[in-house]
Amino acid sequence: MKLETLAIHGGNVITDSEKPAIQPITLSTTFIHQPDSMIYSRATNPNRNALEKLLAGLEHGEAAAAFSSGNAAGVSVFQALEPGSHIIAPDDMYHGLKNAILQLFKGVLEASFVDMTDLSNVEAALRPNTKLIWVETPSNPLLKITDIRAVAKIAKAHDAILACDNTFATPVFQNPLDLGADIVMHSSTKYFGGHSDILGGALISKKVNDFWEKIRIVQRVGGAVPSPMDCYYLCRSIKTLAYRMKGHAEHGGLLATYLVNHPEVDGVYYPGLKNHPGHDIAASQMTGFGGVVSFLVRKGPEAADKLISHLCYFTNATSLGGVESLIERRAASEGPDTLTPQNLIRVSVGLEHMDDLLADMDQAFSKI
Ligand SMILES: *Cc1c(COP(=O)(O)O)cnc(C)c1O
Repeated sequence: MKLETLAIHGGNVITDSEKPAIQPITLSTTFIHQPDSMIYSRATNPNRNALEKLLAGLEHGEAAAAFSSGNAAGVSVFQALEPGSHIIAPDDMYHGLKNAILQLFKGVLEASFVDMTDLSNVEAALRPNTKLIWVETPSNPLLKITDIRAVAKIAKAHDAILACDNTFATPVFQNPLDLGADIVMHSSTKYFGGHSDILGGALISKKVNDFWEKIRIVQRVGGAVPSPMDCYYLCRSIKTLAYRMKGHAEHGGLLATYLVNHPEVDGVYYPGLKNHPGHDIAASQMTGFGGVVSFLVRKGPEAADKLISHLCYFTNATSLGGVESLIERRAASEGPDTLTPQNLIRVSVGLEHMDDLLADMDQAFSKI
């Protein structure tokens, strides 16, 4: 099946003897004992199984595990490592996961945060106990691109696991497992959910191996699992993922071009732009460039706040991946330790008509 077909049919597992056309939501937390039956909803339930089967298919993995948030998914990978293991992660790693490594695993795991756009930094950070290399591409919020195939070679040579946060690209545009990664992570809160109303996360593994079994234990025993309702709604949202992503990427490209030509804008970060430093690598590993665009407001952070306050169709809120456009001055969300420029605005371009979005930008820019 092609991705569009799989997205519609792959998550619809009919579990009811009345044969409804769409899988029902099984709210029961427990199951009547019988041979081979499910036992308890934290361990497995029909809706989570259906979602996991769908996610594994979309990312070309052997298995998937769904979690109650993207952070819970990422943290499960760290929890599955032996204490004393060393992680190499990007210096601009999603701040919630970077905080998790620094705060939750302090004294348990070692970590080096490096600029992965230069692979010599990854090589230089390797230690005998390096067990995990974590990649996020495109990255948040600078849209930096990491060469997944090249990092996979380094990981393989060192017998380390390569995990890739694929939240921004989604499997519609990038399949890290085909490029040499071992594990893919998603915040399904973003494009999978697509409507800013479901919190969730996922891991997909290329192989069902010992490390994956540990992740399964973290999921089922740790218990950071999504509800049957959330799993149902995710399967429903994913049916339109491919078409939403095509729209997001088209709009991302149009907004980036508009901003490049705007006199009040100092720099635009979008991997689809030919002058983006990671453009060629992005083009070699992605089939589309996504719907997140960041840019610098020439007059500074106050002007950036003012611009945002005058917009009508872009909601001033964190997060991304919904059908509605969201915008924020990112450093304000990331807090005082952030490396993000203070005048950087991140936009999650939605699926409203582009004429309306660009007209809205025009009128808001005219007020700063
Ligand atoms: C949002 C996000 C996360 C964390 O996911 P939650 O669902 O918010 O826990 C991780 N990585 C990236 C790239 C994200 O955008």
